[in-house]
Amino acid sequence: MDASCLHFDSALQLLQQAGVVLPDSEPYSAVWIQGVIDALCDLSSKDPLTGLVNRRSFEMGLSREVDRVARSGESALLLVLDIDYFKAVNDNYGHGAGDLVIQAVARAINHVVRPMDTVARVGGEEFAIILPNCAGGFGATVAERLRERVSGQRVEIAAGKFLNITVSIGGAFAPQWVRSSPLIWMERADRQLYRAKAEGRNRTCLEHLVDSTVTAEEKGMLFAIAQDGTIAESQQQGTE
Ligand code: GH3
Ligand code: MG
Ligand code: MG
Repeated sequence: MDASCLHFDSALQLLQQAGVVLPDSEPYSAVWIQGVIDALCDLSSKDPLTGLVNRRSFEMGLSREVDRVARSGESALLLVLDIDYFKAVNDNYGHGAGDLVIQAVARAINHVVRPMDTVARVGGEEFAIILPNCAGGFGATVAERLRERVSGQRVEIAAGKFLNITVSIGGAFAPQWVRSSPLIWMERADRQLYRAKAEGRNRTCLEHLVDSTVTAEEKGMLFAIAQDGTIAESQQQGTE
């Protein structure tokens, strides 16, 4: 196929405006086209400041995880993390220093989580992490490990000038064999984050994992419901 008839103008303009370096290969070759496609995928799914997943991509991942939890019977944990007193960093040291702090927190999170976890920047100084297949005890340990990792690092915001920062973390489990919604799950994690802030910051607050013992018959009913769109809909509203 002659690829030169394809229209790349607006895509290339978009990438250039975003400061993306275009593939250094023969224009319209397969390698070049693949490079352009990869760059566009990154642009639409990643946060440019940290390289983490962006909010839109995170919401799609959260939705997929809600479905997976309902079908697999595994529990999963959603953590939301917010930098404490971040406005003071911007006010006292400038926006550039604030950006360095955001990047340092992103690195700290990446250092602690597993490859299967999804780490996203969902707002200015707010992050969210989806931890699939995460049991109650491990959830509390990983949340605390994250908090310690961030508070234990000194962020260099200018030559020889270091800042200590802390984060507050809230978390909620998607319980086994329960069909929830991404919005409800996020709200539950956010409530725990507000609690961590209200209780003094630099702490983690996790909602207790409800230990739901479900019989084989009940599991069967859940799958039967999930295959029937209308019943699944009314069941879901009933749980909200
Ligand atoms: P709290 O401890 O309650 O979380 O207080 P806070 O000061 O961290 O929270 P607040 O929501 O008041 O401040 C968030 C600030 O983050 C406000 C906004 O100017 C700043 N911000 C948002 N996005 C960015 C960004 O991309 N870079 C920088 N440097 N600052 C940002
Ligand atoms: Mg905030
Ligand atoms: Mg904050």
